[in-house]
Amino acid sequence: MNRYAALAPLPDRLNRLHELAIDLWWAWNVEARSVFRTLDYPLWRATAHNPVRMLWLIPREKLDWAAADPAFAQLYDRAIAALDAARAAHNTWWTRTYPQHTGHSIAYFSAEFALHQSLPIYAGGLGVLAGDHCKEAGDLGVPLIGVGFMYPQGYFHQHVSAEGWQEESYERLTWADAPIEPALTPDGKPCITAVPLGDRSVLVAVWRVRMGRVKLYLLDTDLEENAPWDRELSARLYGGDRETRVQQEIILGVGGVRALKALGSDPVVFHLNEGHAAFVVLQRIRDLTERGSSFDDALEEIHRTTVFTTHTPVPAGHDAFPFHLVEKHLAGCWGSLGPHRDRFLALGAHDNGAGVQFNMTALALRSAGSVNAVSQLHGQVTREMWGSMWPGVPEPERPVSSVTNGVHVPTWLAGDLADLFAKYLGADWLDRHDDPALWDAVLAIPDAELWAVRQGLRRYLFTFVRDRARQRWSEEHVGTPRIVAAGTLLEPEALTIGFARRFAGYKRPELIFHDADRLARILNAPGRPLQIIFAGKSHPADDVGKHHLQRVYRRALDPVFGGRVAFVDDYDLHVAHFLVQGCDVWLNNPRKPLEASGTSGMKAALNGVPHLSIGDGWWAEGFNGANGWMIDGGTSGNDYDAVDAADANALYRLLEEEVVPAFYDRDAAGVPHRWLATVKESIRSIAPRFSARRMVKEYVERMYAPAMERRTVGRT
Ligand SMILES: *Cc1c(COP(=O)(O)O)cnc(C)c1O
Repeated sequence: MNRYAALAPLPDRLNRLHELAIDLWWAWNVEARSVFRTLDYPLWRATAHNPVRMLWLIPREKLDWAAADPAFAQLYDRAIAALDAARAAHNTWWTRTYPQHTGHSIAYFSAEFALHQSLPIYAGGLGVLAGDHCKEAGDLGVPLIGVGFMYPQGYFHQHVSAEGWQEESYERLTWADAPIEPALTPDGKPCITAVPLGDRSVLVAVWRVRMGRVKLYLLDTDLEENAPWDRELSARLYGGDRETRVQQEIILGVGGVRALKALGSDPVVFHLNEGHAAFVVLQRIRDLTERGSSFDDALEEIHRTTVFTTHTPVPAGHDAFPFHLVEKHLAGCWGSLGPHRDRFLALGAHDNGAGVQFNMTALALRSAGSVNAVSQLHGQVTREMWGSMWPGVPEPERPVSSVTNGVHVPTWLAGDLADLFAKYLGADWLDRHDDPALWDAVLAIPDAELWAVRQGLRRYLFTFVRDRARQRWSEEHVGTPRIVAAGTLLEPEALTIGFARRFAGYKRPELIFHDADRLARILNAPGRPLQIIFAGKSHPADDVGKHHLQRVYRRALDPVFGGRVAFVDDYDLHVAHFLVQGCDVWLNNPRKPLEASGTSGMKAALNGVPHLSIGDGWWAEGFNGANGWMIDGGTSGNDYDAVDAADANALYRLLEEEVVPAFYDRDAAGVPHRWLATVKESIRSIAPRFSARRMVKEYVERMYAPAMERRTVGRT
């Protein structure tokens, strides 16, 4: 493919360096990471940790020098050996546990995947969850194949104007800098598949991302052979109107199944990560009927082998389209299913209050035999919300279970903490990290050592924040107030709260400003300052969210808060790493029960950044009384003003009476023992339970393996 250029040859001694750079597994392997850091640290920083781009930019002398340096060559050899081990398919948790399923695979469909900042094909939590799921599946040897979209313009970059208004800009991805390669068919040709869309056919190119054992295939319509409007279909994540969206979803579902076939894959189980991919069902029914099944038998087989995860109780998160739109764009997809068209369309029928529409969640709920929500509380909320799907079935019996989300520990844990865990939990701690008993050893880490690491992580964060402010100042000449708002006046030793998430009304980003005078007193307390760092994007079409962002930004500009409120722009995986590792407390105050799970708090908690949160999503089951704090205003219901006031009051009381005093209660050496007890309990209780390892094992044990047992088609 013409956009994919070849790199200049590498020195012989380092001839697999490109292979290492382009396999995203490097991103969570300590040795592979240090290969690139050591190779050229300034370039590592300048490319925001993009080794593929580094290899384009690095001067040849540097490579030759590295090849001749025995210490570097040794590090490189260890990383390459680890890469080979990470790709080997034998002797993994999966092969040891499920030898009877050798050769079976699971296709995992998602509209977004957050794997690394160098591949901007994600918007937020859904993508992070999908990315962490794939990474952990790879670590466990679970034969997962990801299917998603290659968005050439990705998700937008955020700029905030002097007035605090979010502005979006899209950058075309430089293909050569991305960790992708053309996916090849079994006969070695670039995979291009045709998807019927309306009365025409759209060509879809397929890109491959490697992550150790797991491969992810990304669909891309930006091919010269396509009409200009079709080339744009995959341009942006969540861009465009309803018409674009329904076409994207047809490409993802129908095109994804076709692409897998063209690639020679024949997955046994299909996991739909959110309703966006539910058209998978259409192509699968069609394939099965063309192989001789009746419509009903095909539907039953799909029921046996489809897993569906729903991710939000917020109505806007469930795509629904007018029937005429769906019929128009599906016109070419029916083939031999033509006579059953109405039966298929009925699978998506749902009235969400605005009349009956074709609803992607309804289609997925009616087609999948395994349906789950992403926390226990969200399970209950989902069973209530979608009750009309199961008329007459009482709430607890409706077929929606819960698999609480988790985060990929090697991705999110700070390197300095990983070193500390290796010392006190055992060198092989990562191999056993979903075992809760392992983590009791955290209690034995000397407070002074843990505190030194925590202080160091906060300093990395401030260096990062200051560098970003410096960049805006020198490159974009933003005025002084915005330099203050970017965090220039933050104190590296002061108690720091992080609040980073999408700006949406239900997340109540302004709650902490409910009583501005009281907050200002807490922030500016002599000798015990508190500071808050905000980050997050608002959906480009969500003006309400943008107004929330603007009001928060204005607080950051307000001298009343003494420069102790900061807003870091362009939140992405890179920013998230610094924030979840470097803050002291992670704040989360959604309007209950609208936060299905949340995962940023898990990332923070395992780094010893205790959670300060409403008892919503994962925290309803994660809080144990000693591992953080629960904000509970004691009020619920539809009087939002009353709920907000009560919750804000509860938040202030926790800050005044518990959080701030514990943080500043120091011994003669400056170590806050009371604080560190909460830090340790946060790590001990949360790291194993809210790890992606626990989560992926649950998906395998409760959903994938039973589906493999249940299937009837293709059995020998
Ligand atoms: C973890 C993460 C999220 C999801 O965080 P929530 O707690 O679910 O809001 C969103 N965006 C980025 C960049 C993340 O790293």
